[in-house]
Amino acid sequence: MPLDFESVAAHGSMLGTRALQIFDETVSVVRAVSRWIDFYAHESCGKCTPCREGTYWLREIFTRLERGQGREGDIEKLDDIASNILGRSFCALGDGATSPVSSGIKYFRAEFEQAMTTPVDVSFPPADSTLFAKESVTS
Ligand code: SF4
Repeated sequence: MPLDFESVAAHGSMLGTRALQIFDETVSVVRAVSRWIDFYAHESCGKCTPCREGTYWLREIFTRLERGQGREGDIEKLDDIASNILGRSFCALGDGATSPVSSGIKYFRAEFEQAMTTPVDVSFPPADSTLFAKESVTS
């Protein structure tokens, strides 16, 4: 598939800023999405309530999941918060925060369920990550 806006949109996704991040199976989806939510929560200017409050609560829940301390209903709550931000925020930042959450749960739900009780550092040890392994070899 060509990586242009039209082709990607025709396949049900979007290119956004055209900055691609590619991970292999040694990377935790929960951890990756959590880092993106850190960014969105930090960058939210606070003008719109759904974005301001929603990104805050997304970050709270992702912090729990990274520690393996999920609470009952957390995965559904993530989905619910994301759908309440989408289309209700003034600029693209609010909408942008939602797609990694929704698609992460849609395509990698098993990882989210695992993170309810198991820290991601246990499920995906950084030492086993090809990213960190490569860094330690080259440093
Ligand atoms: S959607 Fe945009 S304008 Fe609204 S709070 Fe978020 S960053 Fe600010």
